Parts: sequence; C-alpha cells; structure tokens
Amino acid sequence: MKETVEVILSAIRENGEERIKSAANIEELKIVKSMLFGKQGKMAEVMKEIPKLSVEMRAQMGRTANELKNHFIAIIDARIEELLLKAAEISADFDYSVPGTMPLSGGLHPITQMCYDLNDAFRSLGFEIFQESDITSELYGFDCLNFPPDHPARESMDTYWLKDSENLSGAERLCLRPHLTGASVRYLQTHKPPYRFVYPGRVFRNESTDARHERAFFQYEALIVQPDFTFSAGKIMIKTILSKVFGREVPVRMRAGFFPFVEPGFEIDMGCLVCNGEGCSVCKHVGWIEIMPGGTPHPNVLRAAGLDPNEYTGFYVNIGLDRLVMMRYGIDDVRLFHSADLRFLNQFN
Ligand SMILES: [Zn+2]
Repeated sequence: MKETVEVILSAIRENGEERIKSAANIEELKIVKSMLFGKQGKMAEVMKEIPKLSVEMRAQMGRTANELKNHFIAIIDARIEELLLKAAEISADFDYSVPGTMPLSGGLHPITQMCYDLNDAFRSLGFEIFQESDITSELYGFDCLNFPPDHPARESMDTYWLKDSENLSGAERLCLRPHLTGASVRYLQTHKPPYRFVYPGRVFRNESTDARHERAFFQYEALIVQPDFTFSAGKIMIKTILSKVFGREVPVRMRAGFFPFVEPGFEIDMGCLVCNGEGCSVCKHVGWIEIMPGGTPHPNVLRAAGLDPNEYTGFYVNIGLDRLVMMRYGIDDVRLFHSADLRFLNQFN
C-alpha cells in the first residue's frame, strides 16, 4: 500500500511539474492548479488513500504529500512571475504608428441633455424640480383637471388602467399617468407658496405606434401659481427660458388653444431657428414651430388644489423636448431620436 501511494505521488509530481512548466499563459496555469488542488484534483485523490495506511506510514505520507503541495505552490508562483514578465515585453516588430482601438464611451441622449438644460434654466428663475410616481389615479389624472366624466381620454383605449382597479373610481382607480399635469394638483396640495416648479417625466398612452406616436414618451411641464400672474409675464418667462437654452434671442408667439385644465389655453410657437423664420423643411415652410401648449390653470383645477381662484392665477406650459432638440441641431425627422441608431446618437457625445 505504501508503495502505491509513493508511486502515485511521484507520478503527480512529474506530471504536475511538466504541466506547470509548459503552461503558455495564466489561464492555462489556473486549469493546471485546479487539476492539482481542486476538490476532485490529484492531491485530493492521494489524501483519500492515506487513511488506509498504517499509523506510522500515514504520518510519513502526509508529510510527503504536504511537501509536494508546497513545492507546486512555489513553482506555480514562479511561473506566474515569468508569464507576467513575458506579457509586458514588446516585440521588436511592434509598430507604434498604427492607430489604437478607442474604447466605446457612452453619452447623454440629446433629449436628456435638453431636459438638463431646461432644468438649469428654470432653476435659475427660482423653480423647483418635482418628480413623482409613474402611477396615478383617475382623481389626479382626470377629475382634478376638469376632464368631463365622459371624456374619451378616460377610456381604456387611451389610458392604461391597472387591472385590479378597473371597476373602481376616483382615487382608487389607478393608471399609468397619461400626462404629467395631474402632478400639479398634488404638488399644490402638498407644498406652500410660492408655487414655481417643473416636472419632467415619462407618460403612457394606450395607442398603436407609428412614425409619430409612441406608447411612452417624455413630457416637460412647468407651472407657476401666484396672485396676479399675467400672460405677458408668461410670455417673457418662455422667451427667457428659450434664450437661456439656445444662447440667443428666440421669437415666441401665442395662439388660442383648448385643453380642459386651462382657461384660457394657448398653443405656443417659437420662431424657426434653422431658417430664422424664412421657411424650411423643419418648420414646414411657415417659419414657426409649435413647441408647447400652455395657459392659465382652470378655476376648477385651482379649487381641486384647495386654492381660491379669485385669489390665485398662474401659467402652465408643457414643453415638447424633441421639438426643441430638432431646433437645436436642425434635425427634420423626429423618429431618429427613438431609432437607437448609434451613427445618429454618437454625434451628440
Ligand atoms: Zn424653418
């Protein structure tokens, strides 16, 4: 029996030394190491044989096996040193003039960059950045915003209602937010004046997708509520924000528009910066681009927020981020933003 263990140990020694010496890289060395020391490795096999020996022999063989183990560890370490030195060597025919491979670096999407620029511009005018959950209720999404009970947007073909609350109503009927405006009433209820805040975020619509429609997209709302806020102050606010974002004077015009939660409501256009108002493919040759709806919060919205409409008024805008980015870079196809095409996106890094 003693002979058998000795023979096995000497065979392992010979084979192990050979494999360690011939390992061409660190990976190969790792494989040899697990072959020797792993749970099913050669050394483990020998250790299983040792208890079968007589008591004196056990001690002697145990010592020999232990010495072999230490021997392997020492020559593996030496081989690692050798391989590392070799890897650091540069061969004589290495061509320093060949360009290297640039690692890929990430960057912010142009719409995200625009969102951050707007945040900075609004913050400089004393606005707070407000965020809330993607899930809202019929109460905040529709009831508080003066949507009539039979408004089509309340139907499940337009809004994603949460399954278990479908047959409930008001605060108990939950949905993915179909617009950001519901956040305004919650903000007004939970904060103290002065009310000046923006709330960027993703909204969800249950509609089939095509070139102009997505099921989820970004909105950027801003609301100011205070006594005696005039339209002209609102227009100056928009012009100031756009000038800060574009670094130049931006013409703005307001046209009448209808939304349930504002009275009166506006469509706000900015002068096309690609053609300076002369007409181009980006502005469809009219010189103006529709960039945001807006208006004064409807008295019912202010009441829902617990404010007296005779005392408070204000100004809403919902900025179309992609339109602004199109203006910034003169891009004429909105689908490029959602294409995930790196040839397009890498230009903005
Ligand atoms: Zn134009």
